[in-house]
Amino acid sequence: MAREIEQMCEERGMRMTAQRRVIAQVLSEADDHPDVEEVYQRASEKDPRISIATVYRTVRLFEEAGILERHEFGDGRARYEQAPEKHHDHLIDIQSGEVTEFTDKKIEELQHEIAERLGYKLVGHRLELYCVPIDSKKNS
Ligand SMILES: [Zn+2]
Repeated sequence: MAREIEQMCEERGMRMTAQRRVIAQVLSEADDHPDVEEVYQRASEKDPRISIATVYRTVRLFEEAGILERHEFGDGRARYEQAPEKHHDHLIDIQSGEVTEFTDKKIEELQHEIAERLGYKLVGHRLELYCVPIDSKKNS
């Protein structure tokens, strides 16, 4: 289980206001990849005084502290997830917007090989697969 974002903020000496705590909680609870609008909606349910500007600022702050990871899954919206302890890649269903997390040993190894072949040591990567369901034609 990933550590709570709130706790990570405190470890980094971040000043935690009540609103920041609410936003941290929302992000800890998320098992998807919400954008700022979605974080704002969820945070508003816990504390209706939170503004979207506060959510923007806070999410950014968490991202800069390395607590959140930002993604952009091809629709121009920034999405966030807690920086994972173990690396994973994403498959995006472009029809439903559903995001599936996966890791593949072969892909990981291949990336190291490619980097090495080109004279580099791989230190990180991002991989996004944009997909439609195989049987989607039948349904439409
Ligand atoms: Zn993810």
